[in-house]
Amino acid sequence: MTKQQDLQTAASSFQSFLEDLHSKYKSLRDGSVANYIPELAKVNPDLFSICIATVNGDIYKVGDYNQLFTIQSISKVFVYGLALEDHGRDYLLTKVGVEPTGDAFNAIILDEKSKRPYNPMVNAGAIATTSLIKGSSATERLNRMLDMFQRYTGHNMFVDISVFTSERITGHRNRAMAHLMLNFGMIDQHLDESLDLYFQQCSVMVNCYDLAVMAATLANKGINPFTKKTAVDSRYIKDILSVMYTCGMYNFAGEWAYKVGIPAKSGVSGGIIAVVPNLMGIGVFSPLLDFRSNSVRGVKVCEELSQQFGLHLFDCSHNKLNFCS
Ligand code: GLU
Repeated sequence: MTKQQDLQTAASSFQSFLEDLHSKYKSLRDGSVANYIPELAKVNPDLFSICIATVNGDIYKVGDYNQLFTIQSISKVFVYGLALEDHGRDYLLTKVGVEPTGDAFNAIILDEKSKRPYNPMVNAGAIATTSLIKGSSATERLNRMLDMFQRYTGHNMFVDISVFTSERITGHRNRAMAHLMLNFGMIDQHLDESLDLYFQQCSVMVNCYDLAVMAATLANKGINPFTKKTAVDSRYIKDILSVMYTCGMYNFAGEWAYKVGIPAKSGVSGGIIAVVPNLMGIGVFSPLLDFRSNSVRGVKVCEELSQQFGLHLFDCSHNKLNFCS
């Protein structure tokens, strides 16, 4: 067999593996969908998709990968990257820490001494991060954010207006956090505008295919493997992946790091992205959530992928997938 044929065989057995994984967990009905706003509560709980994009520009997909949903907290990863580009690492560190909390993602809490939110993956830290996005008007800031998402996905991005409106009407905890940070001078007076931008970023529409491509862009030093365009400055990839690794999976972040061992972020609409540096981006979508707000099937799929292919970053006993590199 030629090397080309070898690669094709490996790729098709990987696709079959994903299809089997999808069938295995499709029947798992544990968990419940997010219900804090009606738009999320009415989602079909059976939706389920797995996509993997490699840094070489190959994509493997199974299930409902065209289904659109709001990105929710997964947006925090990418907005953090934009804020790093806008202000640099040192300044950002004065405004948002990089410490896991062990508290709920929407806890109204700041670091006692520095008054910073703990990290950019919890709501307080994400709101502070969003408030730093540069632009001369609210419209310009939103457009810069949508352009940034577009660099990761390779296509136009839009906000779901009804989810945005619901988030905005019901987001009292987020508003309380913003006021607390305003009190301590951690965010500026444009509090309502920053909150609107935060609610808009949570309401950006993506599908599972997009998640995989976005994750693959992070795996590929910030360059979208399909468009070949730079989505984020490569010097910030390690900052982004570090906070994903330590803080990305709600209060499961430690166990996730231990068991799965890949930087990841999940959101309440049921998406998960996971980044295997220099190899691939994983996207999973399934709206049934566990009590910590992670997708039940999403966690299972990533655990199994990691074990099967030795993707844990600190696993040196395993040869990583050879057809991706
Ligand atoms: N829009 C949600 C909030 O701000 C995001 C929650 C999430 O996905 O973690 O509460």
